Amino acid sequence: MKKNGENSLDRREMLKASAMALCGSLLAGEVVEAYPKAVNANSSPSKLKITDLRVATLVKPGPSPCPIIRIDTDQGVYGLGEVRDGASPTYALFLKSRILGEDPLKLDKIFRKIKQFGGHARQGGGVCAIEMALWDIAGKVYNAPVYALLGGGKFRDKIRLYADTTESDDPKIYARRMKERKEGMGLTWLKMDLGVEMVASTPGTVTNPTDINQWEANQLPHPLLGMEVTDKGIAMLEQYVAAVRDAVGMEIPLSMDHLGHLGVKSIIRLGKAYEKYNLSWMEDVIPWNYTDLLKQISEQSPTSILTGEDIYLKEPFQVLCEKHAVGKIQPDLATAGGILETHKIGDMAEEYGVPMALHFAGTPVCCMANVHCAAATQNFLALEHHSLDVPWWSSIVQEGAKTPIVNRGWIEVPDRPGLGVTLNEDVVRQHLAPGTSYFEPTPQWDNERSWDRLWS
Ligand SMILES: [Mg+2]
Repeated sequence: MKKNGENSLDRREMLKASAMALCGSLLAGEVVEAYPKAVNANSSPSKLKITDLRVATLVKPGPSPCPIIRIDTDQGVYGLGEVRDGASPTYALFLKSRILGEDPLKLDKIFRKIKQFGGHARQGGGVCAIEMALWDIAGKVYNAPVYALLGGGKFRDKIRLYADTTESDDPKIYARRMKERKEGMGLTWLKMDLGVEMVASTPGTVTNPTDINQWEANQLPHPLLGMEVTDKGIAMLEQYVAAVRDAVGMEIPLSMDHLGHLGVKSIIRLGKAYEKYNLSWMEDVIPWNYTDLLKQISEQSPTSILTGEDIYLKEPFQVLCEKHAVGKIQPDLATAGGILETHKIGDMAEEYGVPMALHFAGTPVCCMANVHCAAATQNFLALEHHSLDVPWWSSIVQEGAKTPIVNRGWIEVPDRPGLGVTLNEDVVRQHLAPGTSYFEPTPQWDNERSWDRLWS
């Protein structure tokens, strides 16, 4: 990787020097034929070709593993991207043969070619990783930060973060931890996970069928489980929210996630019980594809409903926004379709008066993809961060980002070309997934082929 970076810098310096020489000639009144009119000449954009795709899979506390990809080109310029946290690097690798030889600057064309291979949740991870890496290349070639290439420049210079924190069965301890997030870390938006399992060991709090097996618990959509919370359960859950609000005040936005796999009526009752705590949203209360049920919840719950971290592409978001089935959306850029698709999702939602938070749980590579998108999308609210307690998280990248990247609950939008980050090879090597190596060759994926036409 260093070799590539050095090559590209050498080339850049060389071109800069020749451009300056040409300018000098013009000033001196000499006629220079075919003076290049291109905005920038960091490379020969029209001849650029993708030559390789490799992976370095990193593990960290929290959502993991995180496969970072590198797309190389024949001119030394490379791009970094990241497969969604928890997804297999195979989601990106099996697309390698579909992008080899392509011009990486035709990124929308490549995206439209490969998007058929993505899907909801982790299945979207490979397509999105490639899309991010193509933007990184485009930014480096055109010498511009990604946000500047998204069409309209940036709306903000720093990106607001939000995060949850480790739960405690003791409301006072939980509240103290939330207060530390606000006052110690400087977060200006908080989230608490509060599920029925926090109170379920107390008799009389939850009504549910006995002997639900693990498969049912993990795979059945929430409304099919037949689990409902009781008045006693709701009263106990409310104690946690009351303690947290008491500790952090009413002014700071407070969201809620992981409520448990409850029926629709229980969610509505919780939404009513939490009204006085003014929560910003209750998240993923039932699977996102139950549009009509979400609309029913939204109409009856005074607490706003949000969903989106598992949705691939804009169309399902459009259905939710058109019908006002949710009050807010939250795509995960590494599932939703990458930087441009997420930007489009934001602009689409804005037309319906729906704001957009961003779900994120990976490394600084994907984080910066989110930062550029958030900077360039007007209806953005706050970006999630799942690694605030991982001390080495920022050091995964070395140049092109401030260390630490997070400053009192905010991330500054970088002005450097592309995503604006370069990997710290030593740190990435220290945290590679067991049995994997650092961007090893992937020739086994060079010839993966199928008849990919979607329509006959
Ligand atoms: Mg969530």
